[in-house]
Amino acid sequence: MNFLKNINWTNSLCRRAGLVLAGALLFILALTTHAPKSSADKDDSSSKKPAESSSQQQISFDTVYVKLNNDEFNNTGLIALDNKDMHIAPDGADFVSIYSYLFNAKGDMIMTTGSTNICGIKEMFEQLNLMISDFSAQTGLKTIMVRNAAYRVDDKVYKSQFDIPDDKSKQGDTAKTEDDGKSSDGCYEHLLGLAVDFQLYEADKGTYPDYTGEGQYAWINENCYKYGFVLRYPADKTDITGVEAKKNHYRYVGKQYAQIMHENNLALEEVYAFLQKYTFEKPLTVQSESGSQYIFYYVKKDKDNTSTTVPMPQGSDGGKTGTVSADAQGGLYMCCDISQLTSQQAPQQESQTSQTQVQKTE
Ligand SMILES: [Zn+2]
Repeated sequence: MNFLKNINWTNSLCRRAGLVLAGALLFILALTTHAPKSSADKDDSSSKKPAESSSQQQISFDTVYVKLNNDEFNNTGLIALDNKDMHIAPDGADFVSIYSYLFNAKGDMIMTTGSTNICGIKEMFEQLNLMISDFSAQTGLKTIMVRNAAYRVDDKVYKSQFDIPDDKSKQGDTAKTEDDGKSSDGCYEHLLGLAVDFQLYEADKGTYPDYTGEGQYAWINENCYKYGFVLRYPADKTDITGVEAKKNHYRYVGKQYAQIMHENNLALEEVYAFLQKYTFEKPLTVQSESGSQYIFYYVKKDKDNTSTTVPMPQGSDGGKTGTVSADAQGGLYMCCDISQLTSQQAPQQESQTSQTQVQKTE
């Protein structure tokens, strides 16, 4: 099962619905309102009234409607949960080995691994590589060792185990009996291919100290969200995660969700309720440090049908991984990059970017 679903625009039922003032972006500064362009095929029945505001600018965009198969979106996506209550068993078909991600752009090895059989989602390893490359450049340290992720042997994915048995058949038995979903480190979710554990390897001493995220390593906790990672089991969230504090277990949720979790001090279990407050008409808007703008909104599945029709800004990055996540209770969580839309439809903003702040809608 590939749980990072992409929206397939070709097969989806897309319907241009004319220009819709979605009230998606509310800017604090009273910039000159960008007049929406007229649309010959405007469909009044699908238009939405803009949110009323005298001092905030609204950015308009066209809306498309995408039909999502309800069965395909069930506890999937970057914020999929695998915890004591919820287990997922991906087949690992889209997993890659960690090996080629151990080197920086110059070809220097910037981290090590407990096993080259460690595997995970490619996007996670790409961002891990960038994060540790930057960490290494900042500190001069090349001591991070990726201890656990998932393991892939003979095209089967097993739960992480540092002391992986040599006997592969025995390894399979081990995986089968671990049906409580926990990895050897007591964590869940390694099997998703979206989590890594760190250890340290001090090559000059030949020692393997524990990773605590302290000292020079504090850089990682301070900056990991910029690369899409969060410390999954922090000490102040044990009652919510149900897992004792882990200083070395990082979960990849993508930059956009990581930023939300970082800014609002949310555990992954808390992200769902947090985002359910936002709708397509009144989404959460977030600006990344790189300047990209995103909207987040929640759509409840249509339980009376096999699919759910979901509104999206036309031209947003709806085809990219991570745009749609789903919980197991019938909720869809949309994340759309609208940077291109604002630059195309409101070019005058580019010159005023430095004066503009995005306000989170409440
Ligand atoms: Zn772990």
